[in-house]
Amino acid sequence: MSDQTIDTLLDEERRFPPPPAFAAQANVHADVYDRPFEEFWEANGRERVSWFQPFGELCRWQPPYAQWYLGGKLNVAYNCVDRHVEAGLGDRVAYYWEGEPEGDRLTITYARLQRDVARMANVLGQLGVGKGTAVAIYMGMVPELPVAMLACARLGAPHTVVFGGFSADSLSDRMNDMGCEVLITQDEAWRRGGRVPLKRTADEAMAAAPGVRASVVVRRTGGEVPMTEGRDHWYHEVEASDDPATVPCAPMDSEDLLFLMYTSGTTAKPKGIVHTTAGYLVGVATTHWAIFDLKPESDVYWCAADIGWITGHSYIVYGPLCNAATSVLYEGTPDFPDKDRWWDIVERYGVTTLYTAPTAIRAHMKWGPEHAGRHDLSSLRLLGSVGEPINPEAWMWYHEHIGGERCPIVDTWWQTETGMVLITPLPGVTTTKPGSATKPFPGVRAAVLNEQGERVEQGGGYLVLERPWPAMTRGIYGDDERFRSTYWERFPGFYFAGDGARIDADGDFWLLGRVDDVMNVSGHRISTIEVESALVDHPKVAEAAVCGRSDATTGQAIVAYVTLKGNEGPSLEMLEELRNHVAHKIGAIAKPANIVFTPELPKTRSGKIMRRLLRDVAENRPLGDTTTLADASVVSELSQRAAEAP
Ligand code: ATP
Ligand code: MG
Repeated sequence: MSDQTIDTLLDEERRFPPPPAFAAQANVHADVYDRPFEEFWEANGRERVSWFQPFGELCRWQPPYAQWYLGGKLNVAYNCVDRHVEAGLGDRVAYYWEGEPEGDRLTITYARLQRDVARMANVLGQLGVGKGTAVAIYMGMVPELPVAMLACARLGAPHTVVFGGFSADSLSDRMNDMGCEVLITQDEAWRRGGRVPLKRTADEAMAAAPGVRASVVVRRTGGEVPMTEGRDHWYHEVEASDDPATVPCAPMDSEDLLFLMYTSGTTAKPKGIVHTTAGYLVGVATTHWAIFDLKPESDVYWCAADIGWITGHSYIVYGPLCNAATSVLYEGTPDFPDKDRWWDIVERYGVTTLYTAPTAIRAHMKWGPEHAGRHDLSSLRLLGSVGEPINPEAWMWYHEHIGGERCPIVDTWWQTETGMVLITPLPGVTTTKPGSATKPFPGVRAAVLNEQGERVEQGGGYLVLERPWPAMTRGIYGDDERFRSTYWERFPGFYFAGDGARIDADGDFWLLGRVDDVMNVSGHRISTIEVESALVDHPKVAEAAVCGRSDATTGQAIVAYVTLKGNEGPSLEMLEELRNHVAHKIGAIAKPANIVFTPELPKTRSGKIMRRLLRDVAENRPLGDTTTLADASVVSELSQRAAEAP
């Protein structure tokens, strides 16, 4: 038996100090950690954002609710667009937009973005959208998506962006919950050469959301779509001025609602995570500038997420634009039409900074390094990861094959609820370790607690945050009770993130996945990520997911689902080899009782492994809620394989 809240099995000894040349030119240095937290957020509040009226009080903390930059007035769209044009940066590129069909490209300068936003805001204004009108946005990665968000922000209308892969029910649920009056969508979206019928799905959703009285439809593919007279408006047909002077940026209070972002949650009702104006903007701009070492005049930054997730809100739209960055905006998938599409984009635009998720890195690992090898990736100087713990071998692959062994990697931990990155290396400062998100960002305090709520100085437990940070959520929309019980009751006085973590001897944090996924084998509390990383450490494994199933003798036994690289085929010998590899790498206790080989793992639409469903498969019980699953056929196929497995 172990008395650890979560045991530590993995011992990763590789160290990567910041390259001296990178450190010498970095935006922030080690002394940033010495700045008092109030001074840090106060100074960034003044420096990163332009105010119509300066704030008076920095932070008011009435747990579990914080307010930041009280008394200030500002406008997010003004900060992200207009002020850059006023500062003479109108010709700077805001987005290089790369459509999915090859050759479909657009270069959008800040001056053009300002006109596009003004036009969209005028169209919305004609439909009665003003301060406080809730607007839903259901689009793919087209230029009009950030334009729509910024137009809402310009008018002071809160938005909710619903990822284009979601169903009509998901869309109507969200629109009803927020009380949306207007929906912005597009005819269809491109997806791997096919068409996703966004407008048709939106019609179904609007039928179930009676509060939505108007829609704006952007033409993307030109496909035929039904339009309801009086309700639906083609964006290109509405006459509206694109002169910014015709539609001023509404002065907003610091704490006015900017947007809701729904997370799936485990129960049926999605949680509308509330983000407000000033704290959110300061938080994302500060982190984006410091963590990505942004040099706005020379960098070409690419966050390859979808804007429909919080990562896209904070690090494709609001953070980078507030910092006057030049970004790539890509409509398609990594392997269409070929598996080197991303590397072609990096080469063509001279991308300097790439921010993506472990799931994408593992997909590239599976396809092999030759696709990246065909392109000149020497423009890259910094890499980032977000969304799941990154397996050390995936980190090493990213480092070698994409980063050319010269680019620092920032493994950034955060959540929809946190709004901004909270645990991360700083690329010119931090010695990184593959698999560790290292240290809390300056001005942020994180800790690990054990079962009893006591602080763990070294070892595993529950990750908590100790004090408010500017971009933290202001709650779950319309559900105070759920907000308190989900995040604040487990450890009174702390924000409980729901993730496990351990702290090592250097004080670095290692994220261990969701605490609900932790396995209990013979009294040892084992994190899924450490066993998965041991499997991915094997040269033939591309991706692995593990979960516990009930076992009469050990409490739980570990079941692993493994995807092999390229041409490797499963065999009984391979199965034994992998079980022994895990035993050798991290200990016999973690040896999987069984391994199921599979070409795909069940993932959420945002690309995260869904271990909850793997448990259902392993226990041979009916599957829980599968609405957020990207591809439902993967699980049914898995159940089949699991039943046939040796
Ligand atoms: P839901 O809350 O609806 O179940 P979700 O938690 O996947 O969905 P997000 O807010 O997008 O939605 O993801 C946050 C979670 O992703 C974190 O709680 C953590 O589990 C994981 N995560 C994000 N970044 C990292 C990282 N760098 N390392 C480890 N885990 C990460
Ligand atoms: Mg979550």
